[in-house]
Amino acid sequence: MSFEKLNLIEPILRALQTEGYTKPTPIQEESIPVILKHRDLLGCAQTGTGKTAAFAIPILQLLYADHVQGPKPIRALILTPTRELAVQIGESFTAYGKHTGLKHTVVYGGVSQHAQTEALRKGVDILIATPGRLLDLMSQRFIHLQHVKMFVLDEADRMLDMGFINDVKKVIAKLPTKRQTLFFSATMPPVIMKLADSILTEPVNVEVTPASSTVDAITQSVYFVAKGDKRSLLIHLLGDRAIESALVFTRTKHVADRITRDLVKSGIKAAAIHGNKSQNARQAALNNFKSKQTRVLVATDIAARGIDVDNLSHVFNYELPNVPETYVHRIGRTGRAGLSGVAISFCDGEERAYLKDIQKLITRQIPVVEAHPFPMKAGDFSSAPVVEKREFHQKRGGHSHSGSSQQKQKGSSGNNSYKQGNKNNKWKSKGNHKKTTSGTAK
Ligand code: AMP
Repeated sequence: MSFEKLNLIEPILRALQTEGYTKPTPIQEESIPVILKHRDLLGCAQTGTGKTAAFAIPILQLLYADHVQGPKPIRALILTPTRELAVQIGESFTAYGKHTGLKHTVVYGGVSQHAQTEALRKGVDILIATPGRLLDLMSQRFIHLQHVKMFVLDEADRMLDMGFINDVKKVIAKLPTKRQTLFFSATMPPVIMKLADSILTEPVNVEVTPASSTVDAITQSVYFVAKGDKRSLLIHLLGDRAIESALVFTRTKHVADRITRDLVKSGIKAAAIHGNKSQNARQAALNNFKSKQTRVLVATDIAARGIDVDNLSHVFNYELPNVPETYVHRIGRTGRAGLSGVAISFCDGEERAYLKDIQKLITRQIPVVEAHPFPMKAGDFSSAPVVEKREFHQKRGGHSHSGSSQQKQKGSSGNNSYKQGNKNNKWKSKGNHKKTTSGTAK
């Protein structure tokens, strides 16, 4: 399947060629024709599957065909949970839309609104926004949504995790009821399904890469190591210069900061990214990491969600997550787009139960590396297991991160659904993936 077969217009095909995309990813192949037919879509897909282009390309094509004279009203709204994702989506619209003449801008909180309101004043066809700043600018009457024809809700499950669901509902209440809606979520817990049901009209279901199968392309290993030795082990392993860039995950902001300080002290270029950092500091850390000025990015799960770094070779789980699906999300940052990746996990005595849960989810044993300079002593293994944690989590909120099981329940039957493991996911060519940060697609 080629992009030409999807009946894309020449200005978009030309842009995709510049990006080095030779063929659509499975979610693009499934979604683009559906969206071009003006159908609603329920997409169950993680970042890394090409989902941004799956909605951005047809939005650009439909708006291009529906040319407007005079001042530009906002005709497409993309709502996404974090500034990082908003910026990345903006970059995608810049790349794919550069020959269409359509304009877009990105609005998010944590920074001055001036540049954003200036861009809005000039008129944009497409608005990419995080919920809080969007509502804020709507209340100040800088943004009007009555002309929106296409609405994308991106990472719906993350919106829920981050406590944005009421803001999302407030935004939806302001949209015209006659519109096309595209709904994306990595997992489909009941609350999210309910929201999807309430805002979609006869949607086509598209599902790719169930969480537990994304790990196929990634070489995984685990090191048993005492909590107090993890720092030394990390520095030791990073001594391997073949590791060009690594994303290190921790459970807490505090640990992220401490490791970053330790790495920097030992001469390794590292930066931390987490919720306590200002938006600008987070974006700067991410940009430096992408441009390879920083070798190691230390991140908490929320901050790293959706981070898209081309060619990331190594992910370290400095601390194992207590929700097993988070492990799959974390290691999915590497091994993207059919490239190989390496995921190394550190497991101390207290984390053995987490490891057990993870291995159950991915239905395989992670190979243990025994020969390393900081092996555990007998006493280090003595902590009690914590296996009950996940059941408790599910019962409380009715929501869990259990992507694979919930995905299996929903959307996988019928002609319109799609399942695709990473093994067949070799759709990325060695193209030019340079991205710009400018706000409009000229
Ligand atoms: P996403 O899932 O939208 O975060 O996309 C993941 C990565 O895949 C991004 O770096 C995109 O630039 C890249 N990508 C998206 N579609 C294609 C394609 N058809 N061919 C090659 N790379 C792609």
